[in-house]
Amino acid sequence: MSKMTSVYDQLLVREHLAHASQPEVLSEAETARLQQSLIEQMQARQAVLIAHYYTPPEIQALAEATGGFVGDSLEMARFGARHEAKTLLVAGVRFMGETAKMLSPEKTVLMPTLEATCSLDLGCPADEFSRFCDQHPERKVVVYANTSAAVKARADWVVTSSIAKAVIEHLAAQGESILWAPDQHLGHYLQRVTGADMLLWDGACIVHEEFKAQGIRDLKKVYPDAVVLVHPESPAAVVDEADVIGSTSQLLAAAGERPQTTFIVATDRGIFYKMQQQNPDKRFIEAPTAGDGATCRSCAHCPWMAMNSLKQLLKGLESGQGEIHVPPRLIERAMIPLQRMLDFPVP
Ligand code: SF4
Repeated sequence: MSKMTSVYDQLLVREHLAHASQPEVLSEAETARLQQSLIEQMQARQAVLIAHYYTPPEIQALAEATGGFVGDSLEMARFGARHEAKTLLVAGVRFMGETAKMLSPEKTVLMPTLEATCSLDLGCPADEFSRFCDQHPERKVVVYANTSAAVKARADWVVTSSIAKAVIEHLAAQGESILWAPDQHLGHYLQRVTGADMLLWDGACIVHEEFKAQGIRDLKKVYPDAVVLVHPESPAAVVDEADVIGSTSQLLAAAGERPQTTFIVATDRGIFYKMQQQNPDKRFIEAPTAGDGATCRSCAHCPWMAMNSLKQLLKGLESGQGEIHVPPRLIERAMIPLQRMLDFPVP
């Protein structure tokens, strides 16, 4: 099988992070000044701010206060396509900016920094992935949203974590075998719950991979009534500890619907801003990560999401340096599997 090994993958991630810029801690006054400058610049440039749940709280708050949006990657792209703004200011990681551009090719899409990537995207280079697909022409290629436009262009289907199970079940019911990329943990989970014939690429999210099952069991002894919420990018042993397994939006919904008041959460802690805002009387506790994994620089918080600072947002908006470009022919090809997902009935 011609594909990356996990060790090479980790080296690549470590090398990328070693050269990446670090977020800076700001005073309240500086935060307020930057937020005001951003409001003025966004108005002047007819821009709207669209932020992912994992970005820093002050960015999510600014998006909400200015008529922008906070959500998961697909909801972000859909909001951008519907909105009348000329410029979409996307706070998140690079594949999110690319997806927004593919759904709104006529708009300018700016990101705070083009350095902000994702270990799943990094670990699945388009040329290697394409060779892997060529070796298995009998399989339907299903890729996760956390991939480059070029990888999406090689796929039959693109899915997000909220729709992945339904799409895999649909394909399995048609007798299809599947080639899945890039997240191996999500792939294993889907394989287990659907029974589908799936060949998996071996990528991983460096944040979710660090959660530890034993740590959750220990925490459950302290909080026996707590509900355990787990994102399926986590390893199988962690998923086995879950009361609720789901995408960011599904975990948020569960936090609101469940009557319990304490939750142990195994996903990026950026989600706590929204969980706490929607459930002020409930308590949310980070699932333990042990913190000494090979690539764990900022456990339970994505180091690339952390690059989305107010300073970078303002710089990106003023300079246009973080503009996302996707060649029209690539958009045309990548939109085929993306459109299949958009047309798929929401489960
Ligand atoms: S949290 Fe994981 S999946 Fe999400 S952007 Fe970061 S590395 Fe990628």
